Amino acid sequence: MYEVYALKYGERDTTACQFFYREASHAPITLHYYVWLILGGPHPILVDTGFLDDDARARGIRNYVSPAAMVERAGVRPGDVPLALITHLHYDHWAGHSLFPGAEFWIQRDEVAFWTGPFGRTPAFRQSANVESLARLVTLNYGNRIRIVDGDREVAPGLRVHRVGGHTAGLQIVTVETARGTVVLTSDASHFYRNVEKRQPVQILTSLPEMLTAFETIHELAGAERLIVAGHDPEVAERFKAVEPGIIKIA
Ligand SMILES: [Zn+2]
Repeated sequence: MYEVYALKYGERDTTACQFFYREASHAPITLHYYVWLILGGPHPILVDTGFLDDDARARGIRNYVSPAAMVERAGVRPGDVPLALITHLHYDHWAGHSLFPGAEFWIQRDEVAFWTGPFGRTPAFRQSANVESLARLVTLNYGNRIRIVDGDREVAPGLRVHRVGGHTAGLQIVTVETARGTVVLTSDASHFYRNVEKRQPVQILTSLPEMLTAFETIHELAGAERLIVAGHDPEVAERFKAVEPGIIKIA
């Protein structure tokens, strides 16, 4: 049986109107930044890689800790992570990939196509990109460290990726079978619980219908146990068990 941990590596303050779709409120909100670690299989599996300190400085991130340091604190040497599932290629999920030099990265075909295609560089999208880290997709691919997947796939028994899109062209979410039931790592298919529970989109998106469909997919996959882990919500620490600062045991 797998165990799942959310590892927090930074925080950023913004306002509701800057974040939720057609939201008028200027109420302050805080995003927490996480990577997720899956233990209990033959080897550790990481979900997303965070970013490096250049993005932390440039983007006004508070309390930044290297995601590699958080993985180490959770008992895994960063060089010993052989597999990382990349939910999407926004800077806060992909720009830290060099911290995990032994990992193969699983990314959806539509996601790679989008960020190497005509729209990624446009002002509407490029603020979510770390261009250098996107350029490294090519060298990593030729070094046999990228696995491009297309649609829903079993990663290992009891562990699956599901392509949902919506927030980005090829966003994938992750389900993990645990002793408590199925954990759904939504990543940015639902930044906050408010997204998936009130069906309220965020304003960073490639397809609104796909985003709305993703909310229903999350509920279906989670089933009765409702072990849903939102992608950037500080409330994850309250809904689940913080075992030490920045380390939350989901199941
Ligand atoms: Zn994100």
